[in-house]
Amino acid sequence: MAQTLYISVTVDWEGRTFDKDGPPYYAENLEGLVLLREKIKALGFDIPWTHYITPNYWLNGTADPTTVLANTKAIDWGKDEIGLHVHCWYDLVQNAQVDPLVENPTFGNMDIFGNDTSGHGVPLGAYSTANIIKIVTKAKTLLEQKLPHPLTVKGFRCGGWMSNDGVLTALMQSDFFYDCSAVPPVVFSQGFSTVSLGNKKDTVGDNNSITDFILSLWGYIPQDNGIYQNTLSLKWNNRQAILPTTQPYKIFANSRSVIEMPNNGGLSDYTSEAYMTAALGDALKLADTSDEPVFLNIGCHQEGPFRYKNSLFEFFDNNKAQLLDLKDQEKIIFSTVYEASRAADLHMVD
Ligand SMILES: [Zn+2]
Repeated sequence: MAQTLYISVTVDWEGRTFDKDGPPYYAENLEGLVLLREKIKALGFDIPWTHYITPNYWLNGTADPTTVLANTKAIDWGKDEIGLHVHCWYDLVQNAQVDPLVENPTFGNMDIFGNDTSGHGVPLGAYSTANIIKIVTKAKTLLEQKLPHPLTVKGFRCGGWMSNDGVLTALMQSDFFYDCSAVPPVVFSQGFSTVSLGNKKDTVGDNNSITDFILSLWGYIPQDNGIYQNTLSLKWNNRQAILPTTQPYKIFANSRSVIEMPNNGGLSDYTSEAYMTAALGDALKLADTSDEPVFLNIGCHQEGPFRYKNSLFEFFDNNKAQLLDLKDQEKIIFSTVYEASRAADLHMVD
């Protein structure tokens, strides 16, 4: 292995609930995330994690989110990174004084008129760039003010991985250092390739309402309208779709830039352990031949039952010996996404 492989573990916090019995899954949620982290740590991986948090918990009536975050063992405040995650919850959008609310399209729950019932599934890119700037700026400030420890948020992951041109432009204008939203369509549609959109079943075997959004935004075909507009990513990623092997790339516009850190290893609950392990194998092969460091980004969601988080545990369990061995040799570095983006940036042209 000629080059270092950076592996980052990421968690999306949807902004819905921490509650053990909370909707929509009547599931473990935060309790499951704590269990997941403890189980991974017990395997020998006392590593930093990166959390992308939607600050809607402070707006939707959740009881004392600051204390919950201060006390949870799901976050290691000594070594973890906190980034911003934005789903367009109506409470969060109204808090940014953006009007009118966009109610569709959506990849979330709909009423009989096709409107999103909460805003959670409305792509951020459905808003104008000026309004996206207002939403991410206000959300970032809210998160930084409410976290139990002072810190500056530098990274972003869009709700539903939906960073279209408008979102990327807004991130550049709002001085985010990196975005972590690019995701391989093949995670959501097995068989996706240059000649096929695949079977629209994710690597766990499910059909998801988000799949067509992902195929349009992160696929090979240039999209020139609205929520799917992907000209910036295609331009700076050599006209390629996002693949399991896609490495960080820098996006430029109007004398500004942002680093795209692809979530190339996917997130459980859409991603099987087999996919994650295959992505690890691809990354190790790439590290053998590359003259630059290589990056793998995996993770899960806070909301959802433990069984949806289990593929991430199985990834560590099944690859334990190899991962620990390469970690001991310092050929694998487990790092926050921000640290990984700094390492990637050293090899990027400005
Ligand atoms: Zn999300």
